[in-house]
Amino acid sequence: MYDPKSLHASEFIDHGEVLESLQYATAHARDAALIDEIIDKAALKKGLTHREASVLLACELPDRMERVFTLANQIKHDFYGNRIVMFAPLYLSNYCINSCVYCPYHAKNRHIARKKLTQEEVAREVIALQDMGHKRLALEAGEHPTMNPISYILECINTIYSIKHKNGAIRRVNVNIAATTVDEYRMLKEAGIGTYILFQETYHKESYEKLHPVGPKHDYAWHTEAMDRAMQGGIDDVGLGVLFGLEGYRYEFAALLMHAEHLEAVYGVGPHTISVPRIKRADDIDPNVFDNGIDDDIFARICACIRVSVPYTGMIISTRESQAVRERVLPLGVSQISGASRTSVGGYCEPEPEEENSAQFDVSDRRTLDEVVSWLMDQGHIPSFCTACYRAGRTGDRFMSLCKSQQILNCCHPNALLTLKEYLQDYASPATRAKGLAMIDAELLKIPSDKVRAKAMQYLEAIERGERDFRF
Ligand code: SAM
Repeated sequence: MYDPKSLHASEFIDHGEVLESLQYATAHARDAALIDEIIDKAALKKGLTHREASVLLACELPDRMERVFTLANQIKHDFYGNRIVMFAPLYLSNYCINSCVYCPYHAKNRHIARKKLTQEEVAREVIALQDMGHKRLALEAGEHPTMNPISYILECINTIYSIKHKNGAIRRVNVNIAATTVDEYRMLKEAGIGTYILFQETYHKESYEKLHPVGPKHDYAWHTEAMDRAMQGGIDDVGLGVLFGLEGYRYEFAALLMHAEHLEAVYGVGPHTISVPRIKRADDIDPNVFDNGIDDDIFARICACIRVSVPYTGMIISTRESQAVRERVLPLGVSQISGASRTSVGGYCEPEPEEENSAQFDVSDRRTLDEVVSWLMDQGHIPSFCTACYRAGRTGDRFMSLCKSQQILNCCHPNALLTLKEYLQDYASPATRAKGLAMIDAELLKIPSDKVRAKAMQYLEAIERGERDFRF
């Protein structure tokens, strides 16, 4: 029985309810009246149920689908403005005792180079990331109780926050590590992490167990209930995601939204972010052996449907996607992207020698951060290096209420401009700097409050003089 308030995975991701929702969606895929009703509801910007959202995803009426795309763009702008938050992943260790059949870290893979960063190496990588202009990282690691225990992750977080190189600083560390205990989540919270990210991979239990044949990750309930434990450990910003390609995308989509409904029902706050990774080629991994790959059209449809269904949740696209795909889905509601990513353990400070491949997957977007920043501005997006909310304690429901009250133009928007200015001043090429300064001038006019605008201009001048780290 579907029960979003239950703490049991089998009840908040109820297989029968997912199947019924998919049947319902298929039966109504050409039901113009119902689809219009659902789009009208989505236009109220309060979200949709997993069942309603499934109907939109299945919709076979092209003009109605166009309405969904337009609405996704509108909602993105209403809640997030034209900012795109930038981050980079930092892979700490690829030692892993799991057996995920899509991941090159799987324990039986003998030819991937196994690596784990020492604290000196972490420091060197962080300096290289700071020198590019990054302020926000997502830490990544395999699961290994002796090689990457929680004490190692905590030590790395501490090292990362302690490094201040020139004007650089990593101000927010998000963490994507295997499902763990409430106590360990509490330790991560105390170490000052931002979002705890964990991809479900697939919500389909039977497939999940086959795709994770041995190791701690085999336990579906342990993995699926991880966000509950994270919340109980005090982490109120959690990031969901599925790895598209493993199972039917409609199943994953409905279940992902059920997971969001569950978090909202139990903790009063939905997921902070949703990621939409697709399986990529990697050492020992051929993405073509997975039957459920989705093309770019379906991918765009999924992004738009997520945006209209959970309007307050950030959406993340990594460098798994090419420039062209990113360009296509950015206007459909994406709010965060990575730039200049390396998926090898190390590799920012010095590129990894080819014979030593430790990478998790091939990246498609290989541009430098400066190129990505410049391209974003060409598309009318403000690249933002802002980390203010979390540092001002605006996490969980406090961030959500800021978002819901649409106060973003008086808060996040000026913060985006301040952090862009820092980037332009410290790291950008001359061409990117010129483009960015013109953008800041134009964007300042959008700040509704005269007081906030005047303060922002004051801060921008201070940044010009070399001062740093202002925020609203
Ligand atoms: N070990 C942690 C866990 O088990 O959740 C962290 C995961 S890993 C460093 C980050 C994510 O990369 C995984 O959750 C998975 O979704 C994704 N991933 C693994 N193999 C991939 C592949 N071949 N292509 C694209 N993404 C992949």
